[in-house]
Amino acid sequence: MSETAPEKHEFQAEVKQLLDIVIHSLYTNKEIFVRELVSNASDALEKLRHLQITEDKIFDEEQELEINITTDEEAQTLTIQDFGIGMARDELVKNLGTIAHSGSKQFLKALKEGGDQNSNLIGQFGVGFYSAFMVAKDVKVYSHSWEASKEGHVWTSDGSGAYTVEEAEGQNRGTKIVISLEDDHKSFSTEDEIKRIIKEYSSFVQFPINVNGERINTQDAIWLKNKSEIKEEDYTEFYKFACKAFDEPMLRLHFNADAPLAINALLFTPATNVEAMGFSRSESEVALYCRKVLIDAEPKGLFPDWLRFLKGVVDSADLPLNISRETMQDSALVQKLNSVLTKRYLKVLAEEAKKRPENYEKFWQTFGIYLKEGVTSDFTQKDSLTKLLRFESSLTEKGKLTSLSDYVSRMKEDQKEIYYLQGSSRESIENGPYLEAFKARNIEVLFLFLPIDEFVMNHIREFEEKNLVSADQDEIELENITPEDAGEPLEKDEAEKLSTWLKETIGERVEEVKISDRLVDSPAMSSNSDKFMTASMRRMMQQMNPDAPEMEAKVVLHINPRHGLIKNLASLRDSDPDLAKNIADQIFDNTLVEAGILEDPKKLLGRVYELMEKLAGKS
Ligand code: ADP
Ligand code: MG
Repeated sequence: MSETAPEKHEFQAEVKQLLDIVIHSLYTNKEIFVRELVSNASDALEKLRHLQITEDKIFDEEQELEINITTDEEAQTLTIQDFGIGMARDELVKNLGTIAHSGSKQFLKALKEGGDQNSNLIGQFGVGFYSAFMVAKDVKVYSHSWEASKEGHVWTSDGSGAYTVEEAEGQNRGTKIVISLEDDHKSFSTEDEIKRIIKEYSSFVQFPINVNGERINTQDAIWLKNKSEIKEEDYTEFYKFACKAFDEPMLRLHFNADAPLAINALLFTPATNVEAMGFSRSESEVALYCRKVLIDAEPKGLFPDWLRFLKGVVDSADLPLNISRETMQDSALVQKLNSVLTKRYLKVLAEEAKKRPENYEKFWQTFGIYLKEGVTSDFTQKDSLTKLLRFESSLTEKGKLTSLSDYVSRMKEDQKEIYYLQGSSRESIENGPYLEAFKARNIEVLFLFLPIDEFVMNHIREFEEKNLVSADQDEIELENITPEDAGEPLEKDEAEKLSTWLKETIGERVEEVKISDRLVDSPAMSSNSDKFMTASMRRMMQQMNPDAPEMEAKVVLHINPRHGLIKNLASLRDSDPDLAKNIADQIFDNTLVEAGILEDPKKLLGRVYELMEKLAGKS
């Protein structure tokens, strides 16, 4: 008998909230509480295994590192016992009375944002220990810390608002959780049901799991096994259990090497990009092991940041077991692992792109944005990453993609540069004036749809010794051709006079006026004479730093000497100079609109009304 009376505690407010949702939600997959408790038991055993390396005094030393589950149908109870590190009194209060771990915190946050999809959300997060209250009348947690000097205790709660903690003598090391099941959920006290659940969720747990004395999990660290011994389902099952995933993996890399480093890695690319779904920035979920002993579930520096979507396991026998979280990132060995694994993963992507292009495109649509991030932030992998980029282009069908290598292979002999255009959609690029000259000459132009794409292109600069150039640049030299069905152009010196006049009339807003062969259907276009500050770059910079003084765009106006409007303008100059000036300004503003750099449309609109008034008066 314990000497002290049970001590009553209130749950922290957030725990109450969580419990309320867990207990009352209509969530059907209640059996996952078994997985949660078993993985807590496994965590506790893992921690003990670590302690055994550094501590020589461990309470109840002779207990096996195992998990024992007993079912009692008559009493309607389920008991899960481990001989792990256990919890002392204050740890019971802290760990089971407050929300300490990030999974539950994230869950609550998503709940606040998620509205009435709550019941689905539970399925996407492990709510941990508290999930037991989905099925329990009450839960008793008996525990004794690995430290012999601490007392054993029992923590009891029915999940409503409070719990008690009381001394309990005669405890083994570790934790024993006794769940009294509600009548509706008494099936969890039948042996067959529990065995089925353990097999489904917990087959890869590193420690023996016995149900009523019978060992039921296989203790295989699948990543250490030979590929030929592993079935497809084993991989998927591992992914779901060990990586706590809820989807099917999109890609898998099982990699074993002995030299220069001993590495056994099993890496999964998930099917979904959770960041794109609005969740906060993800943290890498590739756990680091040394000979099956977990070193860190979320090691920093094991992969570059832009591979943070990966899940899985890396095991290296070369790692010292006692490496600490703090020194992890600086460890030369971890950096070496990082470099080897990153290269290997990129190789897998390159192979996939070659052998199963459709699969790769699926990957690209989901995770391409991370590779772009890599191009701009990771100099060491830039070249391999560049080869993996995909874009639509003027020669692809809508929605179909091409690589830079394929682009280069289609280049004409005399083409020296790789061209791209940025725009919000395929339609807007195809209907803009910049593509005309390239289309007329059958030169391919890559289409970029995101502002970051142009940033990426600026980082790459050149590919296979060809410069990457925005097709709205001023200084692009294109082969001289006369478009078919094009009318007669203005006489050369008429055209020159017109362009001098245009420069004077439009004034400082334009840097230069050129007679252009880059236009086919449009009367005019503006181009950028600043190589690196393209229109979309400027927009991006202004968004990032709205208070900075406005940057003057350097604009060159190109006019199409074959276009009716330009030809008429040349004669209107003499017959009606005022109207000609208005039209000249209007043409220029129109090209700025197309280029996306017109700052203030008021003047343009006023002028349009004026022109319309004149036109209306004529008839
Ligand atoms: P998580 O496992 O994600 O940390 P849980 O809600 O499952 O969250 O558990 C909360 C905490 O309670 C754990 O972090 C751990 O400190 C403690 N705990 C739970 N079960 C056990 C156990 N069987 N042995 C020792 N500590 C445990
Ligand atoms: Mg847990």
